[in-house]
Amino acid sequence: MNPSNLPTVILGSGFTGLFTALHLCHHRHSRPIILIDQADRFVFKPLLYELLSGELTDNQVQPRYEKLLACDGITFVQDTVQSVDLHQRQVKLASGLQYAYDHLVLALGSTTNYFDIPGAREYTFAFRTGEDALLLGRHLRECLQQASQTSDLERRRALLTVAIAGAGPSGIEMAATLADLLPQWYRKLNGDPTEIQIFVINRGQEILKGDINSHLRKAAERALQQRAIPVHVVNEAAVSAIYPECLEYQQAKESKTIAAATMIWTAGTAVNPLLKELAVPDNLRDRSGRLRIAPTLQLPTFPEVFVGGDNATLAMMLPATAQVAYQQGAAIAHNLMALVQGKPLKPAKVALRGTLMKLGLGESAANLFDRFIIAGRSGHLIRQGTYLELLPTPVHNFKATVDWLTDEIFSRHSQPNLTKSEFSPRPWQRLGNIAAVLVIASSGALFWRAIQPTQFNQILQPTGLPVLLDQLQQSQ
Ligand SMILES: Cc1cc2nc3c(=O)[nH]c(=O)nc-3n(C[C@H](O)[C@H](O)[C@H](O)COP(=O)(O)OP(=O)(O)OC[C@H]3O[C@@H](n4cnc5c(N)ncnc54)[C@H](O)[C@@H]3O)c2cc1C
Repeated sequence: MNPSNLPTVILGSGFTGLFTALHLCHHRHSRPIILIDQADRFVFKPLLYELLSGELTDNQVQPRYEKLLACDGITFVQDTVQSVDLHQRQVKLASGLQYAYDHLVLALGSTTNYFDIPGAREYTFAFRTGEDALLLGRHLRECLQQASQTSDLERRRALLTVAIAGAGPSGIEMAATLADLLPQWYRKLNGDPTEIQIFVINRGQEILKGDINSHLRKAAERALQQRAIPVHVVNEAAVSAIYPECLEYQQAKESKTIAAATMIWTAGTAVNPLLKELAVPDNLRDRSGRLRIAPTLQLPTFPEVFVGGDNATLAMMLPATAQVAYQQGAAIAHNLMALVQGKPLKPAKVALRGTLMKLGLGESAANLFDRFIIAGRSGHLIRQGTYLELLPTPVHNFKATVDWLTDEIFSRHSQPNLTKSEFSPRPWQRLGNIAAVLVIASSGALFWRAIQPTQFNQILQPTGLPVLLDQLQQSQ
């Protein structure tokens, strides 16, 4: 095949890969695009807690690729990448399919790091995929059911105990969510929520240490104590082994254990194993194995290969987050097109806009530009609105946002600490909610109109909104 007819192959359709593909398609990339992922759904990882709690639906948090990829230029292949030959420019998949490429995007994300701790992989729940979230939810419900029917005190205590390894953002968000959610679920079974215990095992002296979210530490600590049941953070404790229903840790040279029917592992992230197999020398990798890339996001030794998200590391260190990954996806698309058109490539610009953490049901903290911290219900509206704005395509974004807005305005989501009579928001609260969500909805609609005007006009024509916006624009 003539090399110029070979496709652009994108490995991994997460934040980096999917956004690269959608940008390429939107700008009518002249080459075929092959997008490969082992899963059939895009996973919006920051919202996995909402999938676990039922605050958002499956389709909102993990939409199917077939719904997101309404673009003729993209061929989606659901398969597992087995190997990549950078010299031969060839990718092999588990099914036996092989793809030769002209340009390659490596966007395979990361995996869980168990640090070789005995039993950690076997006996703890991971939390990275929609399946993980749903499996954990089912297990927790089963534990509560069993606890509500046993009179064996010791057994009930274990069934009602959750131990979370890791006090980074995932561990803290998980603890805060469960500390509201489990009492709510258990109360429905006529159980006594005060019997539920949630532990966070933290290696360091304080939570969120060395993390991009460390500005939110105070807000997080406060929130952990104000949940429906308080969260116990065990500091300076190193998990040493996991056994069935038992977590063992070392603290002040003493070995201690927690009996828990649910143990969740959020303590570490490892590089995708496929990266280790690549023909890239050690000096072009960081300590964890991520690939060192040029500011244009190219692999220095293979300039036809672009790398982004959790697979990449730059001279200017960036956190391994979704906001970095999707911005790099857009930059990769831009540079790929420049390369094909023989134009100069540009260094990728990534703007860090602050951080967001879920700190309970209907409660979050937002650190905006490292200047303002907004916590509580307003933080929740900002976090949810921001993430729904980011959902990969405007149509999906619009549907998900509308569903969410309806729920927020009518407060359909459950509030853990409130009785039924307290549950209905007061008129002024409802007005505040409506104002906040209208701002988010209108900015979402304007964003959609700005990037896909034809689609926006076609879909919303019956509402008269496109005509109204055109008239408003003309009158300015
Ligand atoms: C629970 C959790 C909460 C998070 N919360 C936040 C947050 O609040 N804010 C934030 O900014 N970031 C958050 N992150 C981090 C963020 O999700 C990641 O940094 C981001 O997803 C990285 O994007 P990526 O494109 O590199 O990888 P991913 O989005 O993980 O995509 C990688 C893709 O590659 C596919 N894949 C992997 N191996 C193969 C293979 N061999 N063959 C085929 N396909 C493969 C996977 O199925 C996946 O679709 C969170 C992560 C987790 C796990």
